Amino acid sequence: MAERLVVIGGDAGGMTAATNARRMRNDLEIVAFERSTRVSYSACGIPYLVSGEVAEVDALVARTPREFREANRIDVRIEHEVVGIDLDRGQVEVHDQPHGRTFRIGFDHLLIGTGARPVRPDLPGIDDELVIGVQTLDDGVRLLAQAERSRCQRVVVVGGGYIGLEMAEAFVMWGAEVTLVDGGPHLMRTLDPDMAALVTKALERHSIEVRTGVTVTGFEPGAVHTADGRIPADLVVLGLGVTPNTELAEAAGIALGARGSIKVDRRQATSHERVWAAGDCAESFHLVSQRPVHVALGTVANRQGRVAGINIGGGYATFPGVVGTAITKVCSTEVARTGLTELEAARDGFRAIGTVIESTTRAGYVPDTAPITVKLVTEVGTGRLLGGQIVGGAGAAKRIDTLAMAVTAGITADELINVDLSYAPPFSPVWDPLATAARVAAAQVAATPAP
Ligand SMILES: Cc1cc2nc3c(=O)[nH]c(=O)nc-3n(C[C@H](O)[C@H](O)[C@H](O)COP(=O)(O)OP(=O)(O)OC[C@H]3O[C@@H](n4cnc5c(N)ncnc54)[C@H](O)[C@@H]3O)c2cc1C
Repeated sequence: MAERLVVIGGDAGGMTAATNARRMRNDLEIVAFERSTRVSYSACGIPYLVSGEVAEVDALVARTPREFREANRIDVRIEHEVVGIDLDRGQVEVHDQPHGRTFRIGFDHLLIGTGARPVRPDLPGIDDELVIGVQTLDDGVRLLAQAERSRCQRVVVVGGGYIGLEMAEAFVMWGAEVTLVDGGPHLMRTLDPDMAALVTKALERHSIEVRTGVTVTGFEPGAVHTADGRIPADLVVLGLGVTPNTELAEAAGIALGARGSIKVDRRQATSHERVWAAGDCAESFHLVSQRPVHVALGTVANRQGRVAGINIGGGYATFPGVVGTAITKVCSTEVARTGLTELEAARDGFRAIGTVIESTTRAGYVPDTAPITVKLVTEVGTGRLLGGQIVGGAGAAKRIDTLAMAVTAGITADELINVDLSYAPPFSPVWDPLATAARVAAAQVAATPAP
């Protein structure tokens, strides 16, 4: 009898693993269970569905269950929720939602790709249908339907991380008045405060009201309650981060790691033989801080899924880790980060210098050139680049990939100056802003006594 791979969760982590396992092994039987109504979708596209830039929900679906069946011989069953994992018997228990029945199915390999869910604080009114967190494409469709039903004019976004920012932008484009509320001292805590301040200014320029240091105390239809008063809201979107969906794994006795995510090794193997995990439910390893971390990003989910799939299929692949690279945009302002911020570097015991420079995205005389601010975080003594952050206009943020490469390779600011970066006036000044930042950082490092 053919060996069977069972996949729990039908998005980036789960389906990337499934297709890679198929590529490696033709003889494997693969069954994937997904509790929502869609698989292989782009949650990242939800803000653009809400804003109207993406007209059709189907445009966000890369492959349907039927396509998986026909092209990959993967038996994808939507509206099927896995409700238990029995490691002793090598079985999962599955609830078939449309038929209201539960059954068991055996596995030789199990891939857990259950993702994560938006944090929902335990506050009065949190269960109101107008308080919505998005993770799956079904959530996005529900949010859009609710926005249309309530003809929302006033939207409050709670939480100023990248999903909060993108949802704020989406509702500005929708035509609503948007207030972004965050309990912390500044938005975007994945950036240093000086860089986050630039993002706040950009949001305000785009008519988004930003309220930081505000504690939300509850919700009622038509309003968000805060410690300072009441903010009118036809709709509330939660952007308070995510919690990995690991209850099934934990109940089965599989070891958990950073922030409750599933502990995995470099091959995406869990603590239990033949059980693998990938995506937002799984742990990663930070290559700069050298610590286990939980990073909920599609980039990571796809890479981890690929590695898990190759290993399940009998090959050998590893996922060494992440440097925390992320990119977003709000209206015409682009934001990106990689590696450690200055604050994170200090927390992790590095002696580091933060260097901030201002430049332009293209040659100064090119009509659509835009401002760009680059911050580099460099280790005192060695000059090694530990991280970088970018805020700027069109064309600014994708430069983060060069920095991600530099941080991953462990090169110094001095070495970055001489990297043979490209130049023509429509793309950058002759000294690319990264090279300019590297020059200033290298000089600062040279002038700072080693610890
Ligand atoms: C609004 C938004 C914007 C984003 N933008 C970006 C971006 O620009 N760049 C980026 O890199 N990342 C972005 N992300 C993050 C990215 O979407 C996720 O990291 C990625 O989807 C993770 O894939 P996953 O397969 O691990 O988890 P998920 O996409 O969450 O998929 C897990 C699936 O498992 C299913 N499931 C869970 N439990 C069970 C069960 N017991 N039985 C059956 N099925 C189950 C869920 O229904 C879900 O479909 C964004 C996310 C959101 C919400």
